[in-house]
Amino acid sequence: MSAADNFVARHALVTGGGRGIGAAVAAALIAAGHRVTVTGRDSQTLQAMVRQHAASGRCQAVAMDVTDSESVARGMAQARAAFGPIAILVNNAGQAESAPFLKTDAELFERMLAVNLHGVFHCTQAALADMLVGSWGRIVNIASTAGLVGYAYVAAYCAAKHGVVGLTRALALEYASKGITVNAVCPGYTETDIVRKAVANIVAKTGRDEAQARSELAKGNPMQRLVTPEEVADSVLWLCGAGAASINGQSIAVAGGEVM
Ligand code: NDP
Repeated sequence: MSAADNFVARHALVTGGGRGIGAAVAAALIAAGHRVTVTGRDSQTLQAMVRQHAASGRCQAVAMDVTDSESVARGMAQARAAFGPIAILVNNAGQAESAPFLKTDAELFERMLAVNLHGVFHCTQAALADMLVGSWGRIVNIASTAGLVGYAYVAAYCAAKHGVVGLTRALALEYASKGITVNAVCPGYTETDIVRKAVANIVAKTGRDEAQARSELAKGNPMQRLVTPEEVADSVLWLCGAGAASINGQSIAVAGGEVM
């Protein structure tokens, strides 16, 4: 019997699901047959995502800010009301700001921790009870290669993403016997707004043109190209499927061999 024969439609919640990697993950989960709640702060972006998937009838939008535990609790309750208990949680919402360490003030450091690490904490706490009741759950944290190795000029982001990998490992052990797996997916530079902002930043600070800035970012990937959001989404979909039931506590790099 193949993994596809074991398919069960579930309620998946994807934070930051309105654009970039989150939108690709949501699209893959919807196409697989799941009911998907996409969350984020910008309702217009989320509604556009719902319209795009209106034909499926399996996509709803809920506005929430992952840095705010009350907003997360309200958002999760709203999501459940329509689509039932949350069985799959993809902690994808994130931001990447760069600065030399001595120009990384406390506010920047805290902003990076708040969205990239505390956001994962708040959302996981709010969704876990559903998974424990159902004795089944999949938590996939979108970390980064910056969660596995260091990079210059992104100390705050690196610290937050290393934290996400640590949290992933601890929770994987704590809930392994409850039918819940917790894994991280660690993309390299991926073609989204984060990269578009990084390119603009390089152009502004170095005077290089856009093509040079993009190839500078792609250079770190042995395949000499940026990762696509769909490639990241494929890994997430696999981790949520029956065939990955024994994959737990892993941090899977989707980066063309940049880290190994
Ligand atoms: P985008 O900037 O395209 O999307 C980020 C998403 O996160 C948006 O949907 C945004 O929605 C949401 N978000 C940001 N802040 C908050 C918040 N406080 N509360 C709720 N939602 C929030 O980025 P990517 O798709 O590239 O990034 C997705 C994840 O992948 C991030 O965790 C990022 O760190 C990680 N990653 C990205 C890489 C890349 O090169 N692109 C490489 C490695 C990892 P809204 O603005 O509406 O709130």
